Amino acid sequence: MKDITYRLSPSSLNLLRDCPRCFWLKYRLKIDRPSSPLASIATGLDLNIKNYFGKYRVKGLLPPILEKKVSGRNLKLVPRPISFLKFIDEEGVVFVGKLDEALILDDKFYAPLDHKTRASPTQNVHQAYQLQMDAYDLLLEKNGYKTKNVAFLAYFTPRSGELHLGFPFDLDLKEIKTSPQRAQDFINKAKDTLLSEDIPVASPTCQFCGYINRLSETL
Ligand code: SF4
Repeated sequence: MKDITYRLSPSSLNLLRDCPRCFWLKYRLKIDRPSSPLASIATGLDLNIKNYFGKYRVKGLLPPILEKKVSGRNLKLVPRPISFLKFIDEEGVVFVGKLDEALILDDKFYAPLDHKTRASPTQNVHQAYQLQMDAYDLLLEKNGYKTKNVAFLAYFTPRSGELHLGFPFDLDLKEIKTSPQRAQDFINKAKDTLLSEDIPVASPTCQFCGYINRLSETL
């Protein structure tokens, strides 16, 4: 590795997955992808969901909205949130992650749970979410938590209703299999990418570099 301490996270692995060039530019040259304005409603919803979970955590209970989805199973919220996890590998690369929640399964296994807000229900799990959960599972394992290689995605979607009674939301809880090894493979790929002195090729699916190339050919 270069004589620099790199600090990677699940979102940087997803940047690499999206486009090795953008990843390399960010970490080697400190050139960030331009950000676009985010809808603040997602942040507000996320904060409310976390506060709601926190209220039940202190009572040692599952939030009722979640309990309905897992009835009959031995699942608990971790008593104190495992919010920030990290490990440092043998080459000095720091890997960090911040979990929304973690569940304890059968009194011994830990599983990450992440809140997602969406306009409508979905059957599919986006590859970015899959990699994020793989990375959280890896972080749990590296920090000594026993896992069962499963994670939970809590999708909150609005539904129609009497808005004066509060904005109604549905929760779709998806249990997915995780692969900490897949996250580790991405970390290894990230390290290889960062070793390269040459700028990697741009993602063929992103339109921006294609736009700039076409522009420079035209002008
Ligand atoms: S192709 Fe897109 S994602 Fe990749 S470097 Fe260009 S702008 Fe960034």
